Amino acid sequence: MNAQVYYRKWRPRRFDDLVGQEAVARTLKQAVARNRIAHAYLFCGPRGTGKTSTARILAKAANCLAPQEGEPCNQCSPCMAVNDGRALDLVEIDAASNRRIEEMRDLREKVHYSPSEGRFKVYVLDEVHMLTNEAEAALLKTLEEPPPHVMFILATTDPQKLNETIVSRCQRFDFKRISIEATAQNLARVCEAEGIQADLAALRAIARNADGSMRDAEGLLEQAATSFGSPLTLDQVRLLLGLADDERIRQLVDQTLEGQTPQALATLSAIASEGVSLRQLHRQMVDEVRDILLAKAGGKQSPDGDAGPRRLLQSVSMERLLLTLRQLGQVVFRPDAPPTLALELAIIESAQDAAPSPQAVAPAHAEAPPQQRLAEAHPAAATSAARPPAAPVRQERPPTSPSQAVPTAARPRPVAPANATPEPLPEGMPMAERLERRWDEIIKALERKKGRRFYLGPLLRACKQHRMEGDTLYLEFTHTSHTERMREEMDTPEGKRLLIEALAKAIGVTTPLKVEIIAPTTPQRMDKASRSPLVQAAISMGGRIIEEIEEKDYDE
Ligand SMILES: [Zn+2]
Repeated sequence: MNAQVYYRKWRPRRFDDLVGQEAVARTLKQAVARNRIAHAYLFCGPRGTGKTSTARILAKAANCLAPQEGEPCNQCSPCMAVNDGRALDLVEIDAASNRRIEEMRDLREKVHYSPSEGRFKVYVLDEVHMLTNEAEAALLKTLEEPPPHVMFILATTDPQKLNETIVSRCQRFDFKRISIEATAQNLARVCEAEGIQADLAALRAIARNADGSMRDAEGLLEQAATSFGSPLTLDQVRLLLGLADDERIRQLVDQTLEGQTPQALATLSAIASEGVSLRQLHRQMVDEVRDILLAKAGGKQSPDGDAGPRRLLQSVSMERLLLTLRQLGQVVFRPDAPPTLALELAIIESAQDAAPSPQAVAPAHAEAPPQQRLAEAHPAAATSAARPPAAPVRQERPPTSPSQAVPTAARPRPVAPANATPEPLPEGMPMAERLERRWDEIIKALERKKGRRFYLGPLLRACKQHRMEGDTLYLEFTHTSHTERMREEMDTPEGKRLLIEALAKAIGVTTPLKVEIIAPTTPQRMDKASRSPLVQAAISMGGRIIEEIEEKDYDE
């Protein structure tokens, strides 16, 4: 991502121009105005939040010939030199690439030279946590006896990795992630200055994507403007960022929260087939669930929350939202797994938590502490938290009668009591028919049965076709990832045993049964690149995919 022109062009030049770092700006401005400039500063915070920009403003303000209430004038010779990137009294060192002791020893000698023009020689050490231990020790010695004309500004994204003594020698400032609203407003200013008409919704989408980094936000805006020109719309930004539209996200989140696993998986598959970035999709899902959670918790909505009163706001429990958020929080995209797998897993596992649970509504539980209630009502959650491996199997409580069970929107299917014995099937009924009669019960019986890694019931529910031939059950899944998961389970003794036992019990046979997983007949997963609308357009014009490179986050 090389779009950096806007970032340089619109870099803040005064403390008051800094976006989202008001407290830092105010304190530093006062220090300059009162002539209380320290010899060592430490700027901590995520990338793109203005640490280096602030360092430059501070360097200017310290050497400015006509500072105004702590602000640099941006007109005198020292100020102009910094703005033009030719100031001899401002030395910027990237500690990540100059991390050895030689460089720090070198620095230790150089700091004794006087500044060439201003009062201070300012050394900015970016990513200072990257220094080797020896280099850090050398730096510390310099910080212990700083010549009066020297100012150090250390910047880091990772202060925990920094030597504590170094931290204690510096005046520390913490830079916050810049809020979506503040980022979007700043982008609007850039657009105005650049003569670009842009929807605020489009700018918010960019801001949300930049995750608190103004550098990323301005880089994305620049890309969008280069690609689409003016006016810039939300749809164009979505295309650029690989975002799914809000309506689809809502549908997906609703289905997930309501435990409608097959529908949710179908929606996911449809969204993915549009060339949407799955990482972005994941982030959008998290935002959506969070918005509902916040709205439910205290009526607070995200700054751009256009959610309004949502149907699910009433029907979905707080626990359910938290659990879904937790499942989504555990999503890890692995390069060696099918791209949709991580999200499918989260959807299936969180549907597991939404599955009918008579205990969850038993009156006796009303007084139980919420933690315990949660754990009991949602064994899956307890498992994913810290359950000791040797914990005894949870004692099944006597099921409440169906009339006591309060249906909620989170459990769309009618709840059959767990121990209800179904009518025995007539003797001589063919195996295939037995299976059809009992299929739903088999799924239900396996609802909370976890094989080695996956819950079998939800997996079976995602099964496209099942059929019994002789003593063998053939399963076919639409999604490659489900096929792989079921295969994985059937390759383990515990997964295989669970399924075969449930099967044998439900259809009432004692003969040993087998399970075969059939490869999907229709290829579901095209190469991700070939699904992207941009690539499809390129292909239609005669383009050809040469190489597909795994999607990465923006460069660090
Ligand atoms: Zn000046």
